[in-house]
Amino acid sequence: MIQFFNTLSGGKETFRSIVPGEVKLYTCGPTVYDYAHIGNFRAYLFEDLLKRFLQFAGYRVSHVMNITDVDDKTIKGAEAQGVSLEHYTAKFIQAFFEDTRLLRVAPADHYPRATEHIPDMVRLIRGLLDKGYAYVKDGSVYFSIAKFPEYGKLSKIRTDELQSTERVEDDEYEKESAQDFALWKARKEGEPFWDTAIGPGRPGWHIECSAMSSKYLGETFDIHCGGVDNIFPHHENEIAQSEAYSGHPFVNYWLHCHHLIVNGEKMSKSKGNHFTLRDLRQKQADPLDIRFLLLSTHYRKVLNFTFEALDQAKASVQRIKDFLYELESRSFPAGDSPSITKLIQETQEKFIGGLGDDLNISVALTALFELIKKANILIMEEKIRAGDAETLSAFVYRLDGVLAVLPAKQEASLPEEVVKKIERREEARRAKQYGLADQIRKELLQAGIALEDTKDGVRWKALKKIG
Ligand code: AMP
Ligand code: ZN
Repeated sequence: MIQFFNTLSGGKETFRSIVPGEVKLYTCGPTVYDYAHIGNFRAYLFEDLLKRFLQFAGYRVSHVMNITDVDDKTIKGAEAQGVSLEHYTAKFIQAFFEDTRLLRVAPADHYPRATEHIPDMVRLIRGLLDKGYAYVKDGSVYFSIAKFPEYGKLSKIRTDELQSTERVEDDEYEKESAQDFALWKARKEGEPFWDTAIGPGRPGWHIECSAMSSKYLGETFDIHCGGVDNIFPHHENEIAQSEAYSGHPFVNYWLHCHHLIVNGEKMSKSKGNHFTLRDLRQKQADPLDIRFLLLSTHYRKVLNFTFEALDQAKASVQRIKDFLYELESRSFPAGDSPSITKLIQETQEKFIGGLGDDLNISVALTALFELIKKANILIMEEKIRAGDAETLSAFVYRLDGVLAVLPAKQEASLPEEVVKKIERREEARRAKQYGLADQIRKELLQAGIALEDTKDGVRWKALKKIG
Protein backbone atom coordinates (compact mmCIF):
# COMPACT_ATOMS: atom_id res chain seq x y z
CA MET A 1 0.00 0.00 0.00
CA ILE A 2 1.25 3.47 -0.88
CA GLN A 3 0.10 6.57 0.97
CA PHE A 4 0.62 10.23 0.15
CA PHE A 5 -0.25 13.40 1.98
CA ASN A 6 -2.77 15.14 -0.28
CA THR A 7 -2.83 18.94 0.10
CA LEU A 8 -6.40 18.92 -1.18
CA SER A 9 -7.79 16.78 1.66
CA GLY A 10 -5.16 17.85 4.18
CA GLY A 11 -4.38 14.24 5.16
CA LYS A 12 -2.64 11.05 4.15
CA GLU A 13 -4.54 8.97 1.63
CA THR A 14 -4.03 5.56 0.07
CA PHE A 15 -2.81 6.07 -3.47
CA ARG A 16 -4.94 4.60 -6.25
CA SER A 17 -4.20 5.54 -9.83
CA ILE A 18 -7.01 6.13 -12.31
CA VAL A 19 -5.71 3.39 -14.61
CA PRO A 20 -4.26 0.49 -12.60
CA GLY A 21 -0.48 0.29 -13.00
CA GLU A 22 -0.18 3.71 -14.63
CA VAL A 23 0.42 7.14 -13.15
CA LYS A 24 -0.07 10.45 -14.91
CA LEU A 25 2.12 13.05 -13.26
CA TYR A 26 2.40 16.79 -13.89
CA THR A 27 5.08 18.86 -12.22
CA CYS A 28 5.37 22.63 -12.58
CA GLY A 29 8.63 23.32 -14.34
CA PRO A 30 11.04 26.22 -14.32
CA THR A 31 10.25 29.80 -15.17
CA VAL A 32 13.25 30.37 -17.36
CA TYR A 33 14.15 33.93 -16.39
CA ASP A 34 17.36 32.93 -14.58
CA TYR A 35 19.41 29.88 -13.59
CA ALA A 36 17.40 27.55 -11.36
CA HIS A 37 18.71 27.62 -7.78
CA ILE A 38 19.03 24.59 -5.53
CA GLY A 39 15.74 25.56 -3.81
CA ASN A 40 14.02 24.98 -7.15
CA PHE A 41 15.95 21.75 -7.44
CA ARG A 42 14.69 20.60 -4.08
CA ALA A 43 11.25 20.61 -5.70
CA TYR A 44 12.42 18.84 -8.87
CA LEU A 45 14.35 16.24 -6.85
CA PHE A 46 11.41 15.49 -4.58
CA GLU A 47 9.36 14.95 -7.74
CA ASP A 48 12.13 12.75 -9.14
CA LEU A 49 12.15 10.64 -5.97
CA LEU A 50 8.37 10.30 -6.20
CA LYS A 51 8.55 9.25 -9.84
CA ARG A 52 11.45 6.82 -9.39
CA PHE A 53 9.73 5.26 -6.38
CA LEU A 54 6.46 4.79 -8.29
CA GLN A 55 8.44 3.13 -11.08
CA PHE A 56 10.27 0.96 -8.53
CA ALA A 57 6.87 -0.06 -7.15
CA GLY A 58 5.89 -1.19 -10.65
CA TYR A 59 3.94 1.77 -12.09
CA ARG A 60 4.40 3.11 -15.58
CA VAL A 61 4.69 6.88 -15.11
CA SER A 62 3.78 9.44 -17.78
CA HIS A 63 5.46 12.62 -16.67
CA VAL A 64 4.97 16.12 -18.05
CA MET A 65 6.97 19.13 -16.90
CA ASN A 66 6.23 22.48 -18.48
CA ILE A 67 8.71 25.21 -19.30
CA THR A 68 7.33 28.67 -18.50
CA ASP A 69 8.99 30.71 -21.22
CA VAL A 70 6.55 33.61 -21.18
CA ASP A 71 5.29 35.32 -18.02
CA ASP A 72 5.83 38.56 -16.10
CA LYS A 73 9.39 37.64 -15.04
CA THR A 74 10.72 36.39 -18.39
CA ILE A 75 9.29 39.43 -20.18
CA LYS A 76 10.87 41.76 -17.65
CA GLY A 77 14.24 40.03 -17.99
CA ALA A 78 14.23 40.15 -21.79
CA GLU A 79 13.20 43.81 -21.73
CA ALA A 80 15.99 44.72 -19.31
CA GLN A 81 18.57 43.14 -21.63
CA GLY A 82 16.95 44.50 -24.79
CA VAL A 83 16.75 41.05 -26.41
CA SER A 84 13.86 38.94 -27.70
CA LEU A 85 12.03 36.70 -25.27
CA GLU A 86 13.16 33.63 -27.20
CA HIS A 87 16.80 34.69 -27.14
CA TYR A 88 16.61 35.52 -23.44
CA THR A 89 15.03 32.24 -22.30
CA ALA A 90 17.11 29.92 -24.57
CA LYS A 91 20.18 30.17 -22.35
CA PHE A 92 18.27 29.31 -19.18
CA ILE A 93 16.42 26.43 -20.82
CA GLN A 94 19.75 24.93 -21.87
CA ALA A 95 21.21 25.46 -18.38
CA PHE A 96 18.16 23.83 -16.81
CA PHE A 97 18.63 20.67 -18.86
CA GLU A 98 22.35 20.58 -18.10
CA ASP A 99 21.67 20.90 -14.37
CA THR A 100 18.95 18.24 -14.33
CA ARG A 101 21.31 15.84 -16.11
CA LEU A 102 24.06 16.47 -13.56
CA LEU A 103 21.60 15.96 -10.72
CA ARG A 104 20.39 12.75 -12.35
CA VAL A 105 16.78 13.93 -12.60
CA ALA A 106 15.10 11.35 -14.85
CA PRO A 107 13.83 13.12 -17.98
CA ALA A 108 10.08 13.78 -18.32
CA ASP A 109 8.16 12.36 -21.28
CA HIS A 110 7.25 15.86 -22.43
CA TYR A 111 8.60 19.34 -21.71
CA PRO A 112 5.91 21.54 -23.30
CA ARG A 113 6.83 25.19 -23.67
CA ALA A 114 4.21 27.83 -23.01
CA THR A 115 5.02 29.80 -26.16
CA GLU A 116 4.32 26.70 -28.27
CA HIS A 117 0.86 26.14 -26.76
CA ILE A 118 -0.86 29.51 -27.13
CA PRO A 119 -3.76 28.07 -29.26
CA ASP A 120 -4.50 25.51 -26.52
CA MET A 121 -4.68 28.30 -23.94
CA VAL A 122 -6.91 30.44 -26.18
CA ARG A 123 -9.29 27.48 -26.64
CA LEU A 124 -9.56 27.09 -22.89
CA ILE A 125 -10.11 30.80 -22.29
CA ARG A 126 -12.80 30.94 -24.99
CA GLY A 127 -14.53 28.01 -23.32
CA LEU A 128 -14.45 29.83 -19.97
CA LEU A 129 -15.89 32.96 -21.61
CA ASP A 130 -18.67 30.92 -23.26
CA LYS A 131 -19.56 29.24 -19.97
CA GLY A 132 -19.68 32.56 -18.12
CA TYR A 133 -16.68 31.92 -15.82
CA ALA A 134 -14.61 34.65 -17.44
CA TYR A 135 -15.13 38.22 -18.60
CA VAL A 136 -13.31 40.82 -20.68
CA LYS A 137 -12.06 44.10 -19.25
CA ASP A 138 -9.95 46.53 -21.28
CA GLY A 139 -8.90 43.79 -23.69
CA SER A 140 -7.76 41.42 -20.93
CA VAL A 141 -9.72 38.35 -19.84
CA TYR A 142 -10.26 37.59 -16.14
CA PHE A 143 -11.52 34.57 -14.27
CA SER A 144 -14.43 35.42 -11.99
CA ILE A 145 -13.75 33.58 -8.75
CA ALA A 146 -17.28 34.30 -7.49
CA LYS A 147 -18.59 32.02 -10.27
CA PHE A 148 -16.59 29.08 -8.96
CA PRO A 149 -17.89 28.34 -5.45
CA GLU A 150 -15.15 25.80 -4.74
CA TYR A 151 -12.46 28.45 -5.15
CA GLY A 152 -10.10 28.13 -2.18
CA LYS A 153 -10.46 24.38 -1.66
CA LEU A 154 -6.75 23.68 -2.12
CA SER A 155 -5.25 26.62 -0.23
CA LYS A 156 -8.16 26.76 2.26
CA ILE A 157 -8.70 30.49 1.81
CA ARG A 158 -12.16 31.88 2.44
CA THR A 159 -13.67 33.80 -0.39
CA ASP A 160 -16.94 34.92 1.20
CA GLU A 161 -15.54 38.27 2.25
CA LEU A 162 -13.87 39.08 -1.04
CA GLN A 163 -15.16 41.71 -3.42
CA SER A 164 -15.60 40.10 -6.79
CA THR A 165 -15.14 43.42 -8.59
CA GLU A 166 -11.46 43.51 -7.65
CA ARG A 167 -8.97 42.20 -10.15
CA VAL A 168 -5.34 41.27 -10.10
CA GLU A 169 -3.13 41.58 -13.13
CA ASP A 170 0.15 40.14 -11.81
CA ASP A 171 0.93 36.42 -12.04
CA GLU A 172 2.04 36.28 -8.41
CA TYR A 173 0.20 37.72 -5.39
CA GLU A 174 -0.54 36.94 -1.76
CA LYS A 175 -3.48 34.96 -0.35
CA GLU A 176 -4.79 38.10 1.33
CA SER A 177 -5.39 39.65 -2.06
CA ALA A 178 -7.26 36.78 -3.68
CA GLN A 179 -9.20 38.33 -6.54
CA ASP A 180 -10.31 37.74 -10.09
CA PHE A 181 -7.11 36.91 -11.92
CA ALA A 182 -5.90 37.42 -15.47
CA LEU A 183 -6.27 34.54 -17.93
CA TRP A 184 -5.18 36.69 -20.85
CA LYS A 185 -3.36 40.01 -20.69
CA ALA A 186 -4.12 42.63 -23.32
CA ARG A 187 -1.24 43.67 -25.55
CA LYS A 188 1.06 46.24 -23.97
CA GLU A 189 3.53 48.46 -25.75
CA GLY A 190 6.92 46.77 -25.93
CA GLU A 191 5.69 43.36 -24.72
CA PRO A 192 5.56 40.22 -26.87
CA PHE A 193 2.01 39.39 -27.98
CA TRP A 194 0.02 36.88 -30.00
CA ASP A 195 -2.85 37.84 -32.33
CA THR A 196 -5.66 35.49 -31.40
CA ALA A 197 -9.45 35.02 -31.43
CA ILE A 198 -9.60 36.64 -27.98
CA GLY A 199 -7.60 39.63 -29.13
CA PRO A 200 -3.90 40.50 -29.15
CA GLY A 201 -2.06 39.77 -25.93
CA ARG A 202 -0.33 37.05 -23.98
CA PRO A 203 -1.36 34.39 -21.45
CA GLY A 204 -1.33 34.67 -17.67
CA TRP A 205 0.98 32.16 -15.98
CA HIS A 206 -1.75 29.97 -14.46
CA ILE A 207 -3.62 29.19 -17.67
CA GLU A 208 -0.39 27.83 -19.15
CA CYS A 209 -0.30 24.85 -16.77
CA SER A 210 -4.05 24.15 -17.10
CA ALA A 211 -3.74 24.02 -20.89
CA MET A 212 -0.51 22.01 -21.07
CA SER A 213 -1.41 19.46 -18.40
CA SER A 214 -4.78 18.55 -19.92
CA LYS A 215 -3.31 18.43 -23.42
CA TYR A 216 -0.79 15.72 -22.49
CA LEU A 217 -2.43 13.98 -19.53
CA GLY A 218 -6.18 14.45 -20.01
CA GLU A 219 -8.81 16.47 -18.11
CA THR A 220 -8.39 14.40 -14.93
CA PHE A 221 -5.02 12.96 -13.96
CA ASP A 222 -3.37 11.39 -10.93
CA ILE A 223 -0.70 13.60 -9.36
CA HIS A 224 0.28 17.26 -9.58
CA CYS A 225 3.32 18.57 -7.70
CA GLY A 226 5.21 21.72 -6.91
CA GLY A 227 6.64 23.64 -3.99
CA VAL A 228 4.33 24.92 -1.24
CA ASP A 229 4.60 28.43 -2.67
CA ASN A 230 2.72 27.12 -5.72
CA ILE A 231 -0.40 26.23 -3.69
CA PHE A 232 -1.62 29.79 -3.85
CA PRO A 233 -2.33 31.33 -6.26
CA HIS A 234 -0.90 29.10 -8.97
CA HIS A 235 -2.46 25.72 -8.21
CA GLU A 236 -5.66 27.18 -6.77
CA ASN A 237 -6.14 29.03 -10.05
CA GLU A 238 -5.25 25.98 -12.13
CA ILE A 239 -8.02 24.03 -10.37
CA ALA A 240 -10.55 26.83 -10.92
CA GLN A 241 -9.75 27.18 -14.63
CA SER A 242 -9.56 23.47 -15.38
CA GLU A 243 -12.61 22.33 -13.43
CA ALA A 244 -14.79 25.23 -14.57
CA TYR A 245 -13.88 24.38 -18.16
CA SER A 246 -14.20 20.59 -18.06
CA GLY A 247 -16.77 20.06 -15.33
CA HIS A 248 -14.57 17.21 -13.99
CA PRO A 249 -12.10 16.94 -11.11
CA PHE A 250 -8.73 18.19 -12.32
CA VAL A 251 -6.24 16.25 -10.18
CA ASN A 252 -6.67 13.47 -7.60
CA TYR A 253 -3.49 13.96 -5.51
CA TRP A 254 -1.71 17.25 -4.89
CA LEU A 255 1.79 16.88 -3.42
CA HIS A 256 3.83 19.90 -2.34
CA CYS A 257 7.35 20.04 -1.00
CA HIS A 258 8.46 22.48 1.64
CA HIS A 259 11.11 25.10 1.15
CA LEU A 260 14.83 24.98 1.16
CA ILE A 261 15.84 27.79 3.48
CA VAL A 262 19.06 29.61 4.32
CA ASN A 263 19.41 31.13 7.79
CA GLY A 264 15.68 30.87 8.39
CA GLU A 265 14.61 32.44 5.09
CA LYS A 266 13.28 30.81 1.92
CA MET A 267 16.03 30.47 -0.67
CA SER A 268 14.97 32.69 -3.54
CA LYS A 269 16.35 34.84 -6.28
CA SER A 270 14.67 37.97 -4.95
CA LYS A 271 16.26 37.59 -1.48
CA GLY A 272 19.70 37.19 -3.01
CA ASN A 273 20.40 34.22 -0.72
CA HIS A 274 20.42 31.57 -3.40
CA PHE A 275 22.99 29.11 -4.74
CA THR A 276 22.80 27.69 -8.20
CA LEU A 277 24.30 24.33 -9.05
CA ARG A 278 27.00 26.27 -10.89
CA ASP A 279 27.88 28.21 -7.71
CA LEU A 280 28.28 25.01 -5.73
CA ARG A 281 30.24 23.20 -8.44
CA GLN A 282 32.69 26.07 -8.40
CA LYS A 283 33.19 25.25 -4.75
CA GLN A 284 34.02 21.68 -5.87
CA ALA A 285 30.71 20.21 -4.69
CA ASP A 286 29.69 16.99 -6.40
CA PRO A 287 26.15 17.23 -7.88
CA LEU A 288 25.31 13.77 -6.53
CA ASP A 289 26.20 14.84 -2.98
CA ILE A 290 23.92 17.85 -3.47
CA ARG A 291 21.25 15.47 -4.72
CA PHE A 292 21.63 13.35 -1.58
CA LEU A 293 21.45 16.42 0.64
CA LEU A 294 18.27 17.70 -1.01
CA LEU A 295 16.59 14.28 -0.92
CA SER A 296 17.55 13.14 2.52
CA THR A 297 15.14 15.37 4.44
CA HIS A 298 11.46 14.48 4.17
CA TYR A 299 9.85 16.60 1.46
CA ARG A 300 7.24 18.13 3.76
CA LYS A 301 9.84 19.41 6.21
CA VAL A 302 11.76 22.64 5.86
CA LEU A 303 15.38 21.97 4.92
CA ASN A 304 18.06 24.37 6.03
CA PHE A 305 20.99 24.57 3.63
CA THR A 306 24.48 24.65 5.17
CA PHE A 307 27.89 23.60 3.92
CA GLU A 308 28.25 21.33 6.97
CA ALA A 309 25.11 19.49 5.88
CA LEU A 310 26.60 19.16 2.40
CA ASP A 311 29.76 17.63 3.92
CA GLN A 312 27.60 15.17 5.85
CA ALA A 313 25.75 14.26 2.67
CA LYS A 314 29.08 13.67 0.95
CA ALA A 315 30.19 11.38 3.80
CA SER A 316 26.96 9.38 3.56
CA VAL A 317 27.32 8.86 -0.18
CA GLN A 318 30.95 7.91 0.38
CA ARG A 319 29.84 5.24 2.86
CA ILE A 320 27.76 3.60 0.14
CA LYS A 321 30.63 3.87 -2.36
CA ASP A 322 33.13 2.40 0.12
CA PHE A 323 30.81 -0.50 0.80
CA LEU A 324 30.51 -1.26 -2.91
CA TYR A 325 34.26 -0.94 -3.29
CA GLU A 326 34.76 -3.52 -0.51
CA LEU A 327 32.32 -5.90 -2.16
CA GLU A 328 33.82 -5.52 -5.59
CA SER A 329 37.52 -5.42 -4.80
CA ARG A 330 37.92 -8.18 -2.19
CA SER A 331 38.06 -11.84 -3.04
CA PHE A 332 35.56 -13.98 -1.18
CA PRO A 333 35.24 -17.76 -0.98
CA ALA A 334 32.76 -19.31 -3.39
CA GLY A 335 29.12 -19.90 -2.44
CA ASP A 336 26.37 -17.91 -0.76
CA SER A 337 24.56 -17.80 2.57
CA PRO A 338 20.81 -17.69 3.34
CA SER A 339 21.33 -15.01 6.01
CA ILE A 340 22.22 -12.48 3.30
CA THR A 341 19.06 -13.25 1.32
CA LYS A 342 17.09 -12.62 4.52
CA LEU A 343 18.95 -9.37 5.24
CA ILE A 344 18.24 -8.12 1.73
CA GLN A 345 14.59 -9.05 1.97
CA GLU A 346 14.18 -7.22 5.27
CA THR A 347 15.97 -4.15 3.94
CA GLN A 348 13.83 -4.10 0.80
CA GLU A 349 10.65 -4.29 2.87
CA LYS A 350 11.76 -1.40 5.09
CA PHE A 351 12.90 0.67 2.10
CA ILE A 352 9.61 0.22 0.23
CA GLY A 353 7.57 0.54 3.41
CA GLY A 354 9.32 3.83 4.25
CA LEU A 355 8.94 5.42 0.85
CA GLY A 356 5.41 4.05 0.53
CA ASP A 357 4.52 6.00 3.66
CA ASP A 358 4.38 9.44 2.09
CA LEU A 359 7.97 9.17 0.82
CA ASN A 360 9.51 8.76 4.25
CA ILE A 361 13.10 8.92 3.06
CA SER A 362 14.59 8.72 6.57
CA VAL A 363 13.18 5.23 7.10
CA ALA A 364 14.36 4.15 3.64
CA LEU A 365 17.90 5.50 4.17
CA THR A 366 18.15 4.03 7.66
CA ALA A 367 17.31 0.62 6.17
CA LEU A 368 20.08 0.98 3.60
CA PHE A 369 22.71 2.14 6.10
CA GLU A 370 21.75 -0.61 8.54
CA LEU A 371 22.30 -3.15 5.80
CA ILE A 372 25.71 -1.65 5.09
CA LYS A 373 26.62 -1.72 8.76
CA LYS A 374 25.56 -5.34 9.23
CA ALA A 375 27.20 -6.52 6.01
CA ASN A 376 30.45 -4.70 6.88
CA ILE A 377 30.58 -6.62 10.16
CA LEU A 378 30.03 -9.86 8.25
CA ILE A 379 32.87 -8.91 5.89
CA MET A 380 35.18 -8.35 8.88
CA GLU A 381 34.13 -11.67 10.33
CA GLU A 382 34.84 -13.31 6.96
CA LYS A 383 31.27 -14.56 6.74
CA ILE A 384 30.57 -13.19 3.26
CA ARG A 385 30.91 -15.39 0.19
CA ALA A 386 31.37 -14.45 -3.44
CA GLY A 387 27.69 -14.98 -4.26
CA ASP A 388 26.66 -12.78 -1.32
CA ALA A 389 28.98 -10.00 -2.40
CA GLU A 390 27.45 -10.03 -5.87
CA THR A 391 23.86 -10.10 -4.57
CA LEU A 392 24.57 -7.28 -2.11
CA SER A 393 26.19 -5.10 -4.73
CA ALA A 394 23.35 -5.70 -7.22
CA PHE A 395 20.82 -4.89 -4.49
CA VAL A 396 22.48 -1.61 -3.55
CA TYR A 397 22.48 -0.60 -7.22
CA ARG A 398 18.81 -1.56 -7.41
CA LEU A 399 17.99 0.77 -4.52
CA ASP A 400 20.09 3.39 -6.22
CA GLY A 401 17.62 3.21 -9.10
CA VAL A 402 15.41 5.21 -6.70
CA LEU A 403 18.06 7.31 -4.94
CA ALA A 404 20.34 7.87 -7.95
CA VAL A 405 23.30 9.09 -5.88
CA LEU A 406 25.95 6.68 -7.14
CA PRO A 407 28.06 7.31 -10.19
CA ALA A 408 27.40 4.94 -13.10
CA LYS A 409 28.63 1.44 -12.25
CA GLN A 410 31.59 1.57 -14.63
CA GLU A 411 32.97 4.73 -13.00
CA ALA A 412 32.39 3.39 -9.52
CA SER A 413 35.09 0.80 -9.98
CA LEU A 414 37.68 3.38 -11.02
CA PRO A 415 39.91 5.15 -8.51
CA GLU A 416 38.82 8.73 -7.96
CA GLU A 417 41.96 10.31 -9.43
CA VAL A 418 41.36 8.41 -12.67
CA VAL A 419 37.72 9.58 -12.82
CA LYS A 420 38.96 13.15 -12.23
CA LYS A 421 41.49 12.77 -15.04
CA ILE A 422 38.80 11.57 -17.43
CA GLU A 423 36.66 14.56 -16.43
CA ARG A 424 39.58 16.93 -16.93
CA ARG A 425 40.13 15.55 -20.40
CA GLU A 426 36.42 16.05 -21.18
CA GLU A 427 36.67 19.65 -20.01
CA ALA A 428 39.76 20.18 -22.15
CA ARG A 429 37.94 18.79 -25.18
CA ARG A 430 34.93 21.02 -24.56
CA ALA A 431 37.30 24.00 -24.32
CA LYS A 432 38.89 22.84 -27.60
CA GLN A 433 42.24 22.34 -25.84
CA TYR A 434 43.01 19.30 -27.93
CA GLY A 435 46.72 19.20 -27.06
CA LEU A 436 45.96 18.92 -23.35
CA ALA A 437 43.18 16.39 -24.00
CA ASP A 438 45.60 14.21 -25.95
CA GLN A 439 48.24 14.43 -23.27
CA ILE A 440 45.75 13.26 -20.61
CA ARG A 441 44.67 10.41 -22.88
CA LYS A 442 48.31 9.28 -23.16
CA GLU A 443 48.81 9.47 -19.39
CA LEU A 444 45.73 7.31 -18.87
CA LEU A 445 46.92 4.83 -21.44
CA GLN A 446 50.19 4.49 -19.56
CA ALA A 447 48.14 3.78 -16.44
CA GLY A 448 46.34 1.03 -18.36
CA ILE A 449 43.13 2.81 -19.30
CA ALA A 450 42.13 3.19 -22.93
CA LEU A 451 39.57 5.86 -23.77
CA GLU A 452 37.06 5.68 -26.57
CA ASP A 453 34.92 8.65 -27.64
CA THR A 454 31.42 7.54 -28.60
CA LYS A 455 28.29 9.49 -29.45
CA ASP A 456 27.04 8.79 -25.91
CA GLY A 457 30.19 10.24 -24.39
CA VAL A 458 33.52 8.85 -23.38
CA ARG A 459 33.95 5.14 -22.56
CA TRP A 460 36.97 3.51 -20.95
CA LYS A 461 38.48 0.05 -21.03
CA ALA A 462 40.95 -1.29 -18.47
CA LEU A 463 43.94 -2.87 -20.18
CA LYS A 464 45.26 -4.20 -16.90
CA LYS A 465 43.98 -4.47 -13.32
CA ILE A 466 43.33 -1.00 -11.93
CA GLY A 467 43.71 0.28 -8.41
P1 AMP B 1 9.74 28.90 -10.31
O1 AMP B 1 10.80 28.72 -11.37
O2 AMP B 1 9.92 30.10 -9.46
O3 AMP B 1 8.33 28.80 -10.89
O4 AMP B 1 9.87 27.67 -9.29
C1 AMP B 1 10.03 26.34 -9.71
C2 AMP B 1 9.72 25.37 -8.59
O5 AMP B 1 10.63 25.54 -7.49
C3 AMP B 1 8.32 25.55 -7.98
O6 AMP B 1 7.74 24.27 -7.78
C4 AMP B 1 8.59 26.28 -6.67
O7 AMP B 1 7.58 25.99 -5.74
C5 AMP B 1 9.91 25.66 -6.26
N1 AMP B 1 10.70 26.47 -5.32
C6 AMP B 1 11.08 27.76 -5.44
N2 AMP B 1 11.86 28.16 -4.39
C7 AMP B 1 11.98 27.07 -3.57
C8 AMP B 1 12.67 26.81 -2.34
N3 AMP B 1 13.40 27.72 -1.73
N4 AMP B 1 12.56 25.57 -1.82
C9 AMP B 1 11.85 24.60 -2.44
N5 AMP B 1 11.20 24.78 -3.61
C10 AMP B 1 11.25 25.99 -4.18
ZN1 ZN C 1 2.48 25.33 -13.08
